Amino acid sequence: MQKREITILGAGLVGSLLAILFCKKGYKVHVIERRPDMRNANISAGRSINLAMSHRGWQALEKAGMKKDLEEIAIPMYGRQIHNLDGSQVFQAYGKNNEAIYSVSRGELNKKLIAAAENAGATFTFNAKCNKVDINSNILQLEVDGIAKTIQADLLVGSDGAFSSLRSAYTSLDRCDYQQFYIGHGYKELSIPNGANNSFLIEKEALHIWPRKNYMLIALPNIDGSFTLTLFFPFNGEPSFASVQNDEEIIQFFESQFGDAKKIMPQFLEEYKTNPTASLVTVKTNIWVYQSKSFLIGDAAHAIVPFYGQGMNAGFEDCAVLMDIIEKNEESNWETILQEYQNARKINGDAVAQLALNNFIEMRDLVADPIFLERKKIEKEIGLRYPKEYLSVYEMVSFSHTPYSVALGTAQAQEKLYNQIINYGGDFFENLKLDKFIAQLNTWIAEYTTEAQKIMANG
Ligand SMILES: Cc1cc2nc3c(=O)[nH]c(=O)nc-3n(C[C@H](O)[C@H](O)[C@H](O)COP(=O)(O)OP(=O)(O)OC[C@H]3O[C@@H](n4cnc5c(N)ncnc54)[C@H](O)[C@@H]3O)c2cc1C
Repeated sequence: MQKREITILGAGLVGSLLAILFCKKGYKVHVIERRPDMRNANISAGRSINLAMSHRGWQALEKAGMKKDLEEIAIPMYGRQIHNLDGSQVFQAYGKNNEAIYSVSRGELNKKLIAAAENAGATFTFNAKCNKVDINSNILQLEVDGIAKTIQADLLVGSDGAFSSLRSAYTSLDRCDYQQFYIGHGYKELSIPNGANNSFLIEKEALHIWPRKNYMLIALPNIDGSFTLTLFFPFNGEPSFASVQNDEEIIQFFESQFGDAKKIMPQFLEEYKTNPTASLVTVKTNIWVYQSKSFLIGDAAHAIVPFYGQGMNAGFEDCAVLMDIIEKNEESNWETILQEYQNARKINGDAVAQLALNNFIEMRDLVADPIFLERKKIEKEIGLRYPKEYLSVYEMVSFSHTPYSVALGTAQAQEKLYNQIINYGGDFFENLKLDKFIAQLNTWIAEYTTEAQKIMANG
């Protein structure tokens, strides 16, 4: 059977990875990208300079034969390094077996993916903005180097990000439920430069957080020894981007809230004043695919806030799952393939959106809360004692391919288990010395396991 020709809108992280995967399966792929070729132009990727890659991302890169290449530019982060207001620091490991998430340069990753897609046979048109899609005829109206052009697509992919032109065309369909909402916080990028001989001025292999209840500063390492910092801060209120504006206010704010970081941020004042303040959007839609003609993937289908470090990882997982579905259906019926893809991924797109929103509260506030820290210790002990039965939600999301929907559902079952442990009374670690408590704990774990299995079975 003649293979369909794939037209991909957007050469971002997801579109470029998908181009490689389709080429590897022998499809003819053409990618249309609004921006210039980032391999030649000195353009920033637009958003965060670096991002956290975790298990799902690595799995998809492996499928594309890109894992080794990317490992060379990835820095492991084994946990959170919490910077308290009094200057003290605490390290919280992410996993119980020394697992890590990885800091990767967005630009380098994107460039490597574009180059690999080209090597695999994909063609790219840069400086080509899609202005309109007719979803029935699959005719695209483009502006290429400023000149209007019309092209006909066979199988069209919308990987053109949170404000996708293809998704926008879907919104005219009957019963399209589309939702877009912003949180009240925005973000601004700042930096800690490298030290002598590209040394790291703070712990290299950690994701640093300065949690300050309603806002936070985070830092991820770069391979040149510098750190990229992101301030997640309310747009309005006290304090906020609106209230911290002039030199005096900015200096006073950093001095009082991020004193240890400020000492090694020589550019903070200039960067705060000149770097853009960006907003954070969540996008959901119930129509991911249209007949056998087109589909959405990555942020175009599910833009989420960045607090679980999962947006790209989820988009990469979309690509890997789609390839599995294509293999299973022997590339025959595209309507079936696309419907199966939507069924598999929509529920997980919604779940990861919720997990990401929930995690903002954990990152900016709870990580500094003694009750939360005690809970984490108990959770770690449970995980070590019952390794087959108990995986924390963080481990499910970041170190496994457990569906996001299952991770979200299991969070409630874990809450119940934790309450049972706490309501038993006494100190958990002392209780572990009592046979009676161990017997009770075994019963709770058995109940939890049954509940978790039910959640898994229902997806
Ligand atoms: C501050 C921040 C931090 C983040 N950190 C992480 C993290 O640590 N880990 C993680 O997994 N995710 C993270 N994310 C999310 C991640 O950036 C996105 O999920 C990811 O970039 C999605 O990739 P994409 O290819 O779907 O979309 P995009 O990266 O947005 O790419 C879309 C591409 O389409 C092009 N395009 C758009 N419109 C058109 C058009 N009309 N015509 C032609 N081309 C078009 C764009 O130029 C772009 O190249 C973060 C996001 C933010 C905002």
